[in-house]
Amino acid sequence: MPKIRCLCDEVINLSVIPNKQEFKLIWEPLIETLIDSLVNAHRQAKSDEEFEEEAYKLFYLKKPKFTQVYECHNCGRLIVFGSASDPEPAFWFQRESVEGEADLLCSLVEKIIDN
Ligand SMILES: [Zn+2]
Repeated sequence: MPKIRCLCDEVINLSVIPNKQEFKLIWEPLIETLIDSLVNAHRQAKSDEEFEEEAYKLFYLKKPKFTQVYECHNCGRLIVFGSASDPEPAFWFQRESVEGEADLLCSLVEKIIDN
């Protein structure tokens, strides 16, 4: 079971699905490519199930691969992998300050989704 130890010593399980500590970072210039691929997959799918399967493949298996980010729920640090298959993180980002009520990135995202 893949895990990573944060610099604060918290152990983060990377194999939980869905993982509330995991984010896929989508580079804005790739959004059009991603949407085009989804539209194309929808056109070619013979059923909703086939489209759903293709959509998951686009996010998890095909190119462009997404930069993978994990948030440590203990210290708020972001651990960035170039892609999910990379053996080591490329960057570690430590949160400098918190404005407002959200204390973690996942709680900020949940707040946006709820509104
Ligand atoms: Zn941490």
